[in-house]
Amino acid sequence: MESTDPVDMDEIPATPPDLIIEGGVALTMAQDPGLIEHARIFISGGQITDIQSAQTPSPLSNPETEVIDARDSIILPGLINCHTHTAMTLFRGLADDLPLKTWLFERIFPAEREFLDPETVYYGALLGCMEMIASGTTCFADGYFFQDETVRAAHETGLRGLIAQGVIDLPAPGVPDPAENLSRGREFIERWLHFSPRIRPGLFCHSPITCSEETLIRSMEISQGHHLPLQIHLSETAEEIQAILNKSGMRPAQYLDQLGLLNPGLIAAHALHLDEKEMDLIRERGVNLVHVPESNMKLASGTGPVSRMLRRGVNIGLGTDGACSNNDLDLFCEMDTAAKLAKAVEHDPTSLSAGEALHMATVGGASALGLQDYIGTLERGKRADIITVDLTQPHLCPLHNPVSTLVYAANGGDVKDVIVDGIVLMKNRKFTMLDPDPVMAKMREMAKRIAP
Ligand SMILES: [Zn+2]
Repeated sequence: MESTDPVDMDEIPATPPDLIIEGGVALTMAQDPGLIEHARIFISGGQITDIQSAQTPSPLSNPETEVIDARDSIILPGLINCHTHTAMTLFRGLADDLPLKTWLFERIFPAEREFLDPETVYYGALLGCMEMIASGTTCFADGYFFQDETVRAAHETGLRGLIAQGVIDLPAPGVPDPAENLSRGREFIERWLHFSPRIRPGLFCHSPITCSEETLIRSMEISQGHHLPLQIHLSETAEEIQAILNKSGMRPAQYLDQLGLLNPGLIAAHALHLDEKEMDLIRERGVNLVHVPESNMKLASGTGPVSRMLRRGVNIGLGTDGACSNNDLDLFCEMDTAAKLAKAVEHDPTSLSAGEALHMATVGGASALGLQDYIGTLERGKRADIITVDLTQPHLCPLHNPVSTLVYAANGGDVKDVIVDGIVLMKNRKFTMLDPDPVMAKMREMAKRIAP
């Protein structure tokens, strides 16, 4: 196992830390791969103030300082889920093994129309946030309806999030009149813009076929006006390509470019059916893509030219999509799938490496959300969004290569500690902010109504 030169300073930084994580192998993702053995990470006011390599126990200057014992653990940046609909945990397992159109129009949309309200979205989002914390996700990008409730759930659980109001030119949950979708979206942004440094509001256009040209253009204008990214589903199905071709004579990426939507502020999920010109356009315009392999596989939507896009230099984050097309929110599984699927599709074991999968779930995700100056790596000055993975389990032994272990052997259940903004949200697999039992009890009760 290679390691970078240790920063050999056994001293406390100028600001006394309120949290120290020490003892494990840190995978900083700041270099390639940026390994520090016997790591000691100092955190103060939610910020990483120093990262050292130190063999001796920490000389604590302050008895109030909390210490996370990370011996026999890998310490890494919290994972970033760049595409999900968190409250859809409500419908996990409700409809599986169906064609996308049947699944969406005959099962999911009717269930959403009937059961979504502020209370169900709140509990669905709360459960999803807890699931993400328990599997090592510290930041998520979400698009749905009744999003005040997703903001509330993220805030109460302590997660960081880009939480967007869904925009669709059809009657939607909470927005029965599509003529109001943009004004409701703008109000949502204004309501939450200065609420918390961990929460960024935004808009999520459902797709180029369910949103009109005017809706797409206005959504981008509103987002840019607030310096916020805009999220969208792009090129998820072959049918979408044909519909846009019929409507505009252009393929979806060209169509969005002509409307002025292709720019670094666009986060496009799926991006499966792209031709060479579209891939070049996406790279030239600096659009951020989100790879969602498990949902794409489950709905048989396609596989996507992920490794070809990476070779072109396109920034790609990783996402789970909602819990009824995956059916979990575990980014460890998603990294494993991303790396293996690319190999299977391209008949090339070098097409997408474990390191590239981990990069997508951390550094790539942070850049996709415009948060690269704050999160995605473990570095002095960044926000302390950090997880530890417990290595004292048979399937994670021995440790020849931490990146390989994380991507190909670990799963979300191996995450031991989760810290967001310097606040410990899970310690030794115990939630610190909320008790999951009443949340799950409430969800079981609501499930009886959804599928009696
Ligand atoms: Zn989606």
